[in-house]
Amino acid sequence: MRVSGTSKVYETVPVEVEEEQPDYLNCVVELECGLPAVELLRYCQGIEAALGRERGEAKAPRTVDLDVLLFGGEKIDAPELRVPHGGVMRAFNLVGLADLDAELYIPQRGRVGELLAGVEGRGIKAFGEAEELC
Ligand code: AMP
Repeated sequence: MRVSGTSKVYETVPVEVEEEQPDYLNCVVELECGLPAVELLRYCQGIEAALGRERGEAKAPRTVDLDVLLFGGEKIDAPELRVPHGGVMRAFNLVGLADLDAELYIPQRGRVGELLAGVEGRGIKAFGEAEELC
């Protein structure tokens, strides 16, 4: 597995949560990956566990959350893995994907740059370059 691209890191206001929560830092990473998609998901879950993710209630504040937004151009509808991820159209994900490739096509939705033009981007601030923060 090789990291082939990283977006900027964005500071984002939490969305779809009921109580007030601190802002999040979000970033999109592009990988060249020889694993099947479900093994990539397991790999991500291993990183979450290693970083001490605690699984509270859904929508509770998270210490870390890794999602498989896209897997090439595939559409996957398995019980444990849905790709494109249900949140791929959230503005902070589209902003990060556009840093990587605005021409990228999200299956059944459209090109990232065009989709981004139609969403509200308030509450998303560039925080820094991923390389500077590592
Ligand atoms: P989360 O709270 O975002 O970490 O959600 C984790 C749950 O979502 C796990 O049970 C995963 O199996 C499931 N899931 C389904 N599709 C995806 C995906 N594309 N990326 C990450 N988790 C997924």
